[in-house]
Amino acid sequence: MTGTITLSDGGQNYIEFDIIDNVIQNVQPAWLQGWVGAKILNKAFFPGGGLTIDLQWKDYDLTLQYPIIAIDEGITEIMAWLLENMSAEPEFYTNPRTGIDHMSYVVDCNGMPLYFDEANEAAAAAAKALLSIDKIPLALLNQLDGVQLVDEDFPDKPYVMANIQEGLMTVYGGRTIDTGLVSHEAAHAFAESKWGSAAPPRGSDYAAAANTGEPVVSEYAATSVGEDFAEAVRMYVTGPGYLKKIAPLRYDVIHRLMTDPGYSG
Ligand SMILES: [Zn+2]
Repeated sequence: MTGTITLSDGGQNYIEFDIIDNVIQNVQPAWLQGWVGAKILNKAFFPGGGLTIDLQWKDYDLTLQYPIIAIDEGITEIMAWLLENMSAEPEFYTNPRTGIDHMSYVVDCNGMPLYFDEANEAAAAAAKALLSIDKIPLALLNQLDGVQLVDEDFPDKPYVMANIQEGLMTVYGGRTIDTGLVSHEAAHAFAESKWGSAAPPRGSDYAAAANTGEPVVSEYAATSVGEDFAEAVRMYVTGPGYLKKIAPLRYDVIHRLMTDPGYSG
């Protein structure tokens, strides 16, 4: 199969599997690199059923204990949707962040405009992520007015995947996005609007929670307090049960921030 399988959230660190031709490409909420490239052995997929993986490093096959709750084989469907709904002509567009000119197509994904240079797989994947943004809390979505995909790298910083400025999220280097990356970038904008800085300030509840010795939620989260926050928010959206389990104090602060607009965090 090609598509996305979602398992029920029992607090484990594997919930969403992106699969191409029965091979795992990505596992969220923890990016389990060891599983990338492993083969899915299922003959059939159905809600309530299990997902069986060929573990190359063990001599048995593993059927995961958390049942499948959603099966989405939609990438070809989404591609058809994209071709049908995208603007007929590309429009001239200058990226406000880099100043680089583009001829961009646009498609309206349930109210969220997606700008893209070419109707390719990255554009279809982005459209798919934006068509399911109801998974993302409104507090984050309010930070976002649109998403733009560009083929070139961010000038002088090819490692930058994406950033967000004045409500426009730009994704560089032809990268593929998912709801996790959208949530991560929107979390930076949320922090800016809440605290005037992408990093939760000293004295904030979030900084206090992050200073208690709870583990950071990913390797990248260890690079700064701002990334710690954005990564924890990503996990709050993609695997809330897992975040609650490994970092309950961060979970509590983020949950309040996402549900109570009056909370200062
Ligand atoms: Zn970031």
